Amino acid sequence: MTIDTPGMRALADAEPKVFWLDRSDLPEPSPPPPSGRVDADLCVVGGGYTGLWAAIQAKELDPDRDVVVLEGDRVAHGASGRNGGFLDASVTHGLANGLEHFPGEIERLLAIGRDNYRGILTALDAYRIDAAFEATGELVVATDAYQVPGLAESAALRARYGEDAVLLDRDEVRAEVDSPRLLGGVWQRSHIGLVDPVALALGLRRAADALGVRIFENARATRVSGAGSAVRIDTATGHVEAAGVILATNAFRGLVAPIRRAVATVYDYVLVTEPLSEAQRASIGWKKRQGLADSANQFHYFRLTADDRILWGGYDAVYYYGGRVSQRRDQRPRTMSLLAEQFFDLFPQLEGVRFTHQWGGPIATTSRFCASFGTALEGRLAYSVGYTGLGVAASRFGARVALTLLDDPSADVARLDFVRSRPFPFPPEPLRWLGITLTRRAIARADRREGRRGAWLSLLDRLGLGFDS
Ligand SMILES: Cc1cc2nc3c(=O)[nH]c(=O)nc-3n(C[C@H](O)[C@H](O)[C@H](O)COP(=O)(O)OP(=O)(O)OC[C@H]3O[C@@H](n4cnc5c(N)ncnc54)[C@H](O)[C@@H]3O)c2cc1C
Repeated sequence: MTIDTPGMRALADAEPKVFWLDRSDLPEPSPPPPSGRVDADLCVVGGGYTGLWAAIQAKELDPDRDVVVLEGDRVAHGASGRNGGFLDASVTHGLANGLEHFPGEIERLLAIGRDNYRGILTALDAYRIDAAFEATGELVVATDAYQVPGLAESAALRARYGEDAVLLDRDEVRAEVDSPRLLGGVWQRSHIGLVDPVALALGLRRAADALGVRIFENARATRVSGAGSAVRIDTATGHVEAAGVILATNAFRGLVAPIRRAVATVYDYVLVTEPLSEAQRASIGWKKRQGLADSANQFHYFRLTADDRILWGGYDAVYYYGGRVSQRRDQRPRTMSLLAEQFFDLFPQLEGVRFTHQWGGPIATTSRFCASFGTALEGRLAYSVGYTGLGVAASRFGARVALTLLDDPSADVARLDFVRSRPFPFPPEPLRWLGITLTRRAIARADRREGRRGAWLSLLDRLGLGFDS
């Protein structure tokens, strides 16, 4: 029996595809990788933001370096093509998480993040990439009374560390975005903006092409191994031999054991509405087009697109046993229905709006909720993975770290605790599934009980493993 609710009606015609990839100017796939042996100075595995930035920065540092990218699918078909497009300067998944895990380095990590953010904007200009960047900041809102006191703390913390952050009361936040559910907010106006994720990725791809990087799509690396003083990267049709390799495979199965230990893959789901009519658009205010997130542990993120649709995602972070990335997981009707109902709870005045797109994507999380870096094969292989939900900007820095670990491992940045230390490893299955499932349930319970974290989350907090949005 289908239940007739505003959410179900709105979802009825939503297509199972990624809004950002639904465009007519996607490039043709690159020619298949040559069979036999390909030689290169640097081989990058993965054609998302990390891989593309690694290739671009490698060429910027040394234009003569011969760089190859192997992408197992198409460029931007991983998380980089299906995210919310929040461009946040933080490299530590937010200030609070950075302070929690790297209190002694937080000033330095903030400076690194801001520098990296400026570097992205400079690169957009330099390579003429129109990523539809909007310097909107982010508005974090309270939708339940228990979340309101935390807003003042959050605003004060952000201001103390140099951000332009203002606290908004109920009337002020509703003057920005009109929802009867909003009880207050913190608007961080500095160092956060919005982009079109696929426009960014395709622009980076063009920049890499122009710099002479050879990009091979549908070229999945199956194995990496030492080959004398080089590294051998096998694909189904041949192999690459390179002096160095960067693994930029994020949530996909890691080709080396340290990545598999560090990263757990969870799925996050997103809906996009049809373009709002003028009356619908006027009914929600939102003139300054901020990116929004609510402040529950299971939080939603939402934003406007260039053509005034609303992108609405998050809440459920689903872990599937074994943690594999698979197209089958791009859809999850139960989560989509829940998201649709929650949307009309937030914006009842939009009843009648229809969703046109629905999709899911893999997020690489670590137990410290920010990236993990490392090397293998006697320093000839480096990786940067695990940005959790905040990798659109951090991936450029991650790529730079991986390059530094290959080229100059004694450089300052390589000596940061953030770079040298490893997150607490996830156990193998079935313990991994059990631990993550217990934690997800405890987080949902905490949200139902006004944020009270309970015994399991308190234990994780004491061990430095607790998630708090
Ligand atoms: C739904 C969703 C919403 C998100 N929202 C935001 C947001 O608003 N802001 C934000 O900052 N972050 C967000 N993120 C996270 C962000 O998208 C990622 O952190 C970022 O895209 C990671 O880039 P990446 O290049 O490391 O990984 P990916 O983009 O996943 O790229 C990895 C690539 O490696 C390829 N690959 C994997 N294995 C192999 C192999 N063996 N051989 C060859 N190729 C291989 C894959 O095909 C893939 O293309 C979101 C993620 C999701 C899923």
